[in-house]
Amino acid sequence: MKRVYIETYGCQMNAADSALMEHLLAEAGFVATLDVAEATLVLVNTCAVRERATERVIRRLRELGRLKRVRPDLVLGVTGCVPKHEGESLLAALPEVDLFVGPDSYRRLAELVEAAARRPTIDLRLDGNEDYAGCDSVRVEAGHAFVPVMRGCDRFCTFCVVPLARGREKSLPLDEVERQVDAAVERGARTVTLLGQTVNSYHHGEHTFFDLLDRVSRVPGLPRVRFTSPHPSDFREEHFRLMAERPVLCPHLHLPVQSGADRVLADMKRGYTRDDFLRLVGTIRRHLPDVGLTTDLMVGFPGETEDDFADTLSLMRAVEFDGAFLFRYSERPGTFAARKHPDEVPDAVKGDRLARMIALQEEHAWRRYARWVGRVVEVQVEGPSRRDPLRSMGKTPDFKKVVLSCLHSVGETVHVRVARSTSHSLLAEGVPIEGEDPAAPAVDG
Ligand code: SF4
Repeated sequence: MKRVYIETYGCQMNAADSALMEHLLAEAGFVATLDVAEATLVLVNTCAVRERATERVIRRLRELGRLKRVRPDLVLGVTGCVPKHEGESLLAALPEVDLFVGPDSYRRLAELVEAAARRPTIDLRLDGNEDYAGCDSVRVEAGHAFVPVMRGCDRFCTFCVVPLARGREKSLPLDEVERQVDAAVERGARTVTLLGQTVNSYHHGEHTFFDLLDRVSRVPGLPRVRFTSPHPSDFREEHFRLMAERPVLCPHLHLPVQSGADRVLADMKRGYTRDDFLRLVGTIRRHLPDVGLTTDLMVGFPGETEDDFADTLSLMRAVEFDGAFLFRYSERPGTFAARKHPDEVPDAVKGDRLARMIALQEEHAWRRYARWVGRVVEVQVEGPSRRDPLRSMGKTPDFKKVVLSCLHSVGETVHVRVARSTSHSLLAEGVPIEGEDPAAPAVDG
């Protein structure tokens, strides 16, 4: 029997791509397995966004390559951003790998695997028309489904490999998105997250991101819709107005800002200034006062001075994000920044700035979570808590983790009062409150 084991690295788009590959391979007779020892095909689906992720993937491929010494008929493949981005150099570095496939070639995967069983096979071409329409690969796990609505990126931020590894933007037809969301709901999804590298630049024919939100938020039987990751410059006020009118559109926005210094933002070619970003946050909070705002921030972009970094900390203070992914800059080959801006901020300086940024974010997150103590929140249950299997955990609409006082079914929605908070979760005490308005004011918080 043909069995495929897929290991996934990186973002949610990669996880959705792994589900897509599994689906396409199933049509060719492959059965998915979670046990690498029984696989006849091993695929490592990779992410090239950060240097460390690439190094980790290469180490893992070398490890898996050792399996081939005892099982020479095993096909070992690498898919996703890394083979597309690293290209020929990877070929020489990894002689054990039989198959290199880029993100636009998955429809041909089964035939490529067949060829790779005979000789090393490579298909890294980018295809501006491949949107994987018609593939019913959406996976529903713990009541949740990711539905890719657009792929690639046209923005070319100077530090980023995504446009090089995944190609230019292409959006799925709106009817096709709706069909996939309907199918996910049929399979038990209670939350759907619309995915795209710059999801709010979605456009297909005359349909825009507003139309996408409007249509998906009216799908029967779907209580929650999320989307990620938007680009700050692609928002229009009408998006927030619609989110305020339709509770099904969850009030959580992941807004990657990257830096709070105008000079750095300009060198990154982010397309907005610090003031633009702060104005956007003001508009969002005017329409959605309880919105959860999360972000991505980077320290040590080439040329970042202590003053630039101070601007980033002051932007963080002005916004007070509920959560943030904080990174050190790492130079990625082929990007504009790698060619034009030498990576000159010493590692020790990057480390020191990152530590200060983490400490500040922790302080903000404590405050943002503490605001909910005493209030009633709506929680959609995702499964048992990792720390206490006798309690369920779930998420609020604004994407805060809540640990409940007992076990509930996955996908169930309960209303509970928040008793305590940390910087990463809310703790509910007592039994769910029936029929209470989740927007009821705080009793003591
Ligand atoms: S918007 Fe910028 S950071 Fe985001 S995927 Fe596109 S190029 Fe990369």
